[in-house]
Amino acid sequence: MKAAVLHANNQPLQIEEVPRPTLKPNHLLLRVLACGVCRTDLHIYEGDIPLIHQPLILGHQIVGEVIEGATTERPAGTRVGVSWIGGTDGACPFCLRNEENLCDDPTFTGYTVNGGYAEYALVRSDFTFPLPVTLDNTHVAPLLCAGIIGFRSLRVAGTQPGERVGLFGFGASASQAIEVLRHWNCDVFVSTRGQSHRDQAAQLGATWIGTEDDKPPVELDRAITFAPSGAVVLSALGSLRKGGVVAINAIHLDQMPAFDYDKLLWGERQIRSVANMTRKDATDYLELAAEIGIKPQAQVFSLDQANEALQAVKNETANGPVVILP
Ligand SMILES: [Zn+2]
Ligand SMILES: [Zn+2]
Repeated sequence: MKAAVLHANNQPLQIEEVPRPTLKPNHLLLRVLACGVCRTDLHIYEGDIPLIHQPLILGHQIVGEVIEGATTERPAGTRVGVSWIGGTDGACPFCLRNEENLCDDPTFTGYTVNGGYAEYALVRSDFTFPLPVTLDNTHVAPLLCAGIIGFRSLRVAGTQPGERVGLFGFGASASQAIEVLRHWNCDVFVSTRGQSHRDQAAQLGATWIGTEDDKPPVELDRAITFAPSGAVVLSALGSLRKGGVVAINAIHLDQMPAFDYDKLLWGERQIRSVANMTRKDATDYLELAAEIGIKPQAQVFSLDQANEALQAVKNETANGPVVILP
């Protein structure tokens, strides 16, 4: 099969022929119909997240069609989604506490196992999700990590209907989170660089929009940060009311600067990281996204253009989320 293969950090992905994966028990072989490109792919590519094995096929927002390994729940030809959480041990203390996102021995799609920048992908059957029929392959792919993690971030922040919520950064994840927040009648305050992101936030119903250095004009109940920047986390923290929560939707931060506890964290304000997702986050979000009609307008690249797709995420030059169609 054709695949875009990462051989070493910061070396261009090689578009090459590799053996098609062989079916294993409890797995499905999928023909990849679309694969979203996530900022985490870029962190792996650039070595911010250490490369565990190489060569590696990146990609963890896979829309695929069941080719082999079909079950009664996932018959041949079914269209399914695959996300970052590609498996858990089901036995560690975290799995037993229904916190499988924190599993001690997890499998991550496109990181600890090969992902979807390829014509075929081998995935664990019980970590695939049925997809809403209303969404085509290109539109549904960005829901599978950007959307689900954005949704989990809103949950981790403890977001309640009608609250004032800040979104710091406005890429693929935030542009879906705002649609959920508007559905919950929340007022949304967006701080972001880039005029195109500010225009998009306005179209999607933000109450207030500022540049990355502007402070929202009111105290926020919740704030979600999307940029891989500790300074942004502090801006978000400085915008909270007493008892408010910042949820960090980023797998990697440049650094966490020292900050003034008395001014920024005192008053029972909280900072929380958002780690991975559970299968329940995925199924709940996919249902909600179908109900609301979330349909991100993605920019499409071919598998041969996988390097250009990664650069588009890096430089934020894409018009919306980036999706590879093999
Ligand atoms: Zn576990
Ligand atoms: Zn991701």
